[in-house]
Amino acid sequence: MALEAGPNFDPKQFAFDETLADAIYWTDERLSGGSTPEAFGANNSGTGVGGSTLHWGAFVPRADARDLRLKSESGQGSDWPLVLSDLVPFYERVEAFIGVSGPAAYPWDAGRRYPLPPVPRNGPAQIMAMACGRQALRATDAPAAVVSRPFTAEGAPARNACINCGFCHQGCRNGAKTSMDVTYLPLAVAHGAEIRPESVVHGLERGADGRISAVVYRAGGVDRRQRCRAVFLCAGAVETPRLLLNLGLANGSDQVGRNYMGHVATQVWGRFPDAVRMNRGYPSSLISEDMLRPADADFAGGYLMQSLGVEPLTFANSVARGRGLWGPALTAYLDRYEHLAGIGINGETLPSEANRLTLSDETDALGLRKARIDFGYGPNEARLNAHATRVMTDLWEAAGAQDIWVLERVAHTLGTCRMGRDGDDSVVDPYGRSFAIDNLWISDGSTFPSSLAANPALTIMALALRSAEAFLAA
Ligand SMILES: Cc1cc2nc3c(=O)[nH]c(=O)nc-3n(C[C@H](O)[C@H](O)[C@H](O)COP(=O)(O)OP(=O)(O)OC[C@H]3O[C@@H](n4cnc5c(N)ncnc54)[C@H](O)[C@@H]3O)c2cc1C
Ligand code: SF4
Repeated sequence: MALEAGPNFDPKQFAFDETLADAIYWTDERLSGGSTPEAFGANNSGTGVGGSTLHWGAFVPRADARDLRLKSESGQGSDWPLVLSDLVPFYERVEAFIGVSGPAAYPWDAGRRYPLPPVPRNGPAQIMAMACGRQALRATDAPAAVVSRPFTAEGAPARNACINCGFCHQGCRNGAKTSMDVTYLPLAVAHGAEIRPESVVHGLERGADGRISAVVYRAGGVDRRQRCRAVFLCAGAVETPRLLLNLGLANGSDQVGRNYMGHVATQVWGRFPDAVRMNRGYPSSLISEDMLRPADADFAGGYLMQSLGVEPLTFANSVARGRGLWGPALTAYLDRYEHLAGIGINGETLPSEANRLTLSDETDALGLRKARIDFGYGPNEARLNAHATRVMTDLWEAAGAQDIWVLERVAHTLGTCRMGRDGDDSVVDPYGRSFAIDNLWISDGSTFPSSLAANPALTIMALALRSAEAFLAA
């Protein structure tokens, strides 16, 4: 049985209209503070059966082995309680099941093979490829959880090939983009699982033995109780710790809510003489991993680079926020939308005591205290960001861009229930099982001990599969 706060959408409901896409964003209020406050809502969290994969970008790099051992390598950050070879078999199984498109040969990992050929490159990807060539950087077709031809995995519905419409972040009507509602959830239902949408969990009851005995949730305005033998809490790196902190559970280590991380996700934009039409095509179709450990780095860790494509309304929001344009100046800039292209990064953020999710004094409709998230770049993130901004600006200059500008951004929600080997300084073990309550498992981005440079979702899925097997074997 799975309880999900949001609705169960029919993908045909997803409209080719950005103003109608709000339904798939988690828009409950969160309080965002710190020196680099993160934007939530459409920027960061989804809701509905499928969660944030309904509106994610489906860009699926794997973790780099060095990032899992960053502390050992650099003395900074945190090591994971597992190594890459623990994850690779799960990456391979997830990629085969969800349908990942990618290049025939991956320049940074000679042995890697993707099940499907790449999706076509969009306009910004073509510019980025040309710019990387001029700057002697390697770039290739990105691993994308988008099926480039009709695809059916065992137990899951048949999916159509991508039609390059560019509306991935508004929900894919076509089933081509991987989301949990067209992959793992139908498989689970076929095996007898029940999914209860519009069911908001707000309580976890414990028996005399201290184990979780029931989940309390509100559906249709009524509180209901579901008895259980075990619970997987998978509400994301904001709602999972918020629930645990509100309920005073699983926090003997005092680590719940600590080490909140968003990736450094700065973008560089420019205008090109010829039309680029970035609204078309799968947005993140090119990747470079050459900056995972740049030779001239003055920081620990590194970053990935990717091409961008952003639909007009979302882009207008970014321009207003990031460039400070408004009114006629904003519309004049957007008149050149067809000629604009961007490049962006996903960069390592070190876990930090100062970056933390706590509970505010304000409560929501269920009487639970709202999450307050304080996040700020430390010196390492600031140096990484400066390096990436320089590299991306050089690339866009090499490509002939004019009117280049930088959009500072933080993306993703990670940390807050870190995994580790010891219950004194971590919330869950390397399989996601709570140290404090042995029938409570956590399976979402909250368990990351460090952010990694790779975008998180593929690793979340691989860890989920690993947890599920450990649970069944326990
Ligand atoms: C715009 C956008 C683009 C992204 N692009 C990429 C990308 O290209 N590549 C990548 O790797 N990652 C990307 N991400 C990040 C990725 O989608 C997330 O990291 C990942 O989906 C998080 O998974 P999760 O399991 O932690 O939580 P989520 O997928 O957020 O799932 C949490 C679910 O729990 C539900 N929930 C919360 N509280 C309750 C409650 N109390 N009761 C019941 N249900 C509850 C929510 O409604 C939601 O459905 C993107 C994210 C966004 C928002
Ligand atoms: S570009 Fe492809 S994956 Fe994205 S929404 Fe359109 S059909 Fe779906």
